Amino acid sequence: MNTVDVSKLREIFGEENIKTDPSDLYAFGSDSSVHHAMPWAVVRPDSTEQVQKLMTYANEALIPVIPRGGGSGMCGQTVPVKGGIVLDMKHMNRILEINLPDVYCRVEPGVVDDDLNLALKPHGMFYPPPRFLAHRHHRRGDSQQRFGGPVREIRCHKRRGFGHESGAAHR
Ligand SMILES: Cc1cc2nc3c(=O)[nH]c(=O)nc-3n(C[C@H](O)[C@H](O)[C@H](O)COP(=O)(O)OP(=O)(O)OC[C@H]3O[C@@H](n4cnc5c(N)ncnc54)[C@H](O)[C@@H]3O)c2cc1C
Repeated sequence: MNTVDVSKLREIFGEENIKTDPSDLYAFGSDSSVHHAMPWAVVRPDSTEQVQKLMTYANEALIPVIPRGGGSGMCGQTVPVKGGIVLDMKHMNRILEINLPDVYCRVEPGVVDDDLNLALKPHGMFYPPPRFLAHRHHRRGDSQQRFGGPVREIRCHKRRGFGHESGAAHR
């Protein structure tokens, strides 16, 4: 049963970052799998504080919360099978730190792989996702899924000569 208090969501996120219209919600009911289920609401946080407030509210009201990156997962992980609130991370797309000496970066969960690679390119570094999806994968969705590809963690890789050699430990 849909028990979401929309006024509470409005208070946390502002009207423009909430979707409750069924035609909007439909698109957030599936990922790249064949599964579909309607969420009760979709919210777009811009900060950690907003996510914390949502989780406090949802925990008290026992409402499922489903974080969503690019929605490219193929097993239905973002499908809200029990309803609930989809947490669309698109607005949290800031690259916080590129640490060259220690070869790591800190990014918000909505950073798209391609954007990270644009920022890394001047430093001769790259993160290697599959090219056909790099415009859509988000950093957090990848790590949550233990996305394999050529690497298994959020680490920058250094390009050397012809080959691509890891500049960081694999997990
Ligand atoms: C054509 C194709 C080929 C693929 N090939 C491979 C492959 O070769 N190897 C491989 O390992 N994978 C592969 N994948 C799967 C790939 O791992 C996922 O598509 C990608 O990692 C999901 O990223 P996303 O941002 O779209 O996450 P989503 O699909 O949006 O979410 C994936 C999971 O992460 C969770 N999540 C998302 N954001 C957050 C957050 N901020 N906090 C907590 N949880 C979060 C979601 O709730 C969900 O459970 C492929 C996918 C496609 C479509």
